[in-house]
Amino acid sequence: MKQILYRPGRIFLSVPHMGGHERNYVQKALEDNWVSTKGPNVPGFEHDICQHTNAQHAVALSSGTAALHLALRVLGVQPGDEVICSTFTFVASANPILYVGATPVFVDSEPETWNMDPVLLEEAIKGTIARGKKPACILLVHLYGMPAKLKEIMEVANRYEIPVLEDAAEALGSRYSGHQVGTFGKVGVFSFNGNKIVTTSGGGALITADEELAKQAEFLANQAKEPAPYYLHSQLGYNYMLSNVSAGIGRGQLEVLEKRVKQRREIYSYYQSQLQEIEGIEFLPEPKTCFTNRWLSTLLLPEGVSPERMRQALEHENIESRQVWKPMHQQPLFSGYSYYGNGTSDRLFERGLCLPSTSSLTDEDLDKVVRTLKQELE
Ligand SMILES: *Cc1c(COP(=O)(O)O)cnc(C)c1O
Repeated sequence: MKQILYRPGRIFLSVPHMGGHERNYVQKALEDNWVSTKGPNVPGFEHDICQHTNAQHAVALSSGTAALHLALRVLGVQPGDEVICSTFTFVASANPILYVGATPVFVDSEPETWNMDPVLLEEAIKGTIARGKKPACILLVHLYGMPAKLKEIMEVANRYEIPVLEDAAEALGSRYSGHQVGTFGKVGVFSFNGNKIVTTSGGGALITADEELAKQAEFLANQAKEPAPYYLHSQLGYNYMLSNVSAGIGRGQLEVLEKRVKQRREIYSYYQSQLQEIEGIEFLPEPKTCFTNRWLSTLLLPEGVSPERMRQALEHENIESRQVWKPMHQQPLFSGYSYYGNGTSDRLFERGLCLPSTSSLTDEDLDKVVRTLKQELE
């Protein structure tokens, strides 16, 4: 017998929300027997991604993590190279650095966007150069959908001529100065995992303006099969392709992306309007140059209120919440690596909580979250 996973009526942090047309694409795939990695939904989905983001080239892949791994490969990151990475992120940003045998150098956040601090970035670059080698890449994360300070970051990166890889896994639909994030660096990455703003049930994509890089990524994702009448391989490849069924779900989901962004922004606005008066609670305002998809609504609890206690109180009411990501420099896995810090991400981790942000939540659901939070704070 199958187990019931959750109590009915649960208010989820971030779960899939179908638009309706996904089934048409999937049904067509089943009817035509295009159920594997070949079939028209894959190039169709890649085309749709380019339309939505204004990217030149998109490669649909099996996950955001796979996309980051391939991005590091096509950017030429070699074993022993150093890669600068945001410390305040999910582990999937940093793991691919180890996959390619490179060494992560973690950089702390600034408080205005919670993303990589451009001043510390330059310190980290100088430190790495002083140890004998220029960093091979800057892996910049746009956390919770909030664009990083791209103007300042790109200025530093360009001055030192270091390629930027944007991890926009959480930031599809977010813009900086009117442009989709992920299009500023040499390569950008999205995730279509089930918890992201739109989903393929599991998938990712790599975008770039460089046709050669896109071709190379596609080649490596398909076991690096050389064009020959037999199986010929001269490079190390992977099985990272997206299936035509998953791509069909993705096509339906991209049709409603703008709607999902609007809904998530409204959820954030509601929480903010209901909770901002509470002494000590802090929200993350949207800087003038930024448009965020508000993938997850996050807030800082009053000093001294433990996010874990609040999570348990919400859980008691069948409401799912989560402490913000634990910074990479605090993770046992990465304890041996360099870290350029100012204490920002440590502070965010001590006080930060992610609230239910699923786009299908009702007004009653949101009201219940707010009531529970207020009660607990009294
Ligand atoms: C989800 C996520 C990823 C990885 O994406 P998957 O599709 O789950 O592999 C990478 N980076 C960040 C910041 C993420 O949130």
